[in-house]
Amino acid sequence: MGHEDGSLGGYDAIETGDELVSWSRTYCRRAASHYDFTVDLHRVRWEVSTRAKRRAAAVKTPSVDDARVGEPRRWTGTSSQSAELDAAPTCTMSLSWRAFESFDREEWTATLRHELVHVEQFQAFGATDHGPAFKRRAEAVDAPVRVRRFAEPKYTLTCEACGADVAYRYRECKLVRESAAYRSACCEAPLDCREREE
Ligand SMILES: [Zn+2]
Ligand SMILES: [Zn+2]
Repeated sequence: MGHEDGSLGGYDAIETGDELVSWSRTYCRRAASHYDFTVDLHRVRWEVSTRAKRRAAAVKTPSVDDARVGEPRRWTGTSSQSAELDAAPTCTMSLSWRAFESFDREEWTATLRHELVHVEQFQAFGATDHGPAFKRRAEAVDAPVRVRRFAEPKYTLTCEACGADVAYRYRECKLVRESAAYRSACCEAPLDCREREE
């Protein structure tokens, strides 16, 4: 899959949270130089949320007293290590696994650029929002001002024997139509398919 050379093939081959983080990080490094983001990606932690959430991704930041978007922040005394005195506190890029499953590559990368604008604002100002400055910046980097809230999956496939959730699908497909013909990995039992109620 070419993780070593940092190649960005294989979006469709991502199977685990670690792979999603690795792919998204590599993408963000490239986007940072391509779109001229002023971000320090060393000060970004990554996580994947597997809980059902409506937000595709989020940047979690510590709250900073008296910070306001547009007022450049001098980061002093934010870290106990003197070598890092002038660095912004670390923030966390939280990615939703379910969103990744429902977004194609184009929408996912646009989402990452949206989040990078948040990181950029946070590192510059200690605060971030979706105000006019955000809008201008998002347009400049070809990112949506609002990330689409992704829907809950339309179909949930469960193991008929133990009831565990085995898979989610957002649209009809062979697995949905012929769920009983498939076998779960946990019990090698047929799958039940449940359709979300609107
Ligand atoms: Zn946002
Ligand atoms: Zn089972």
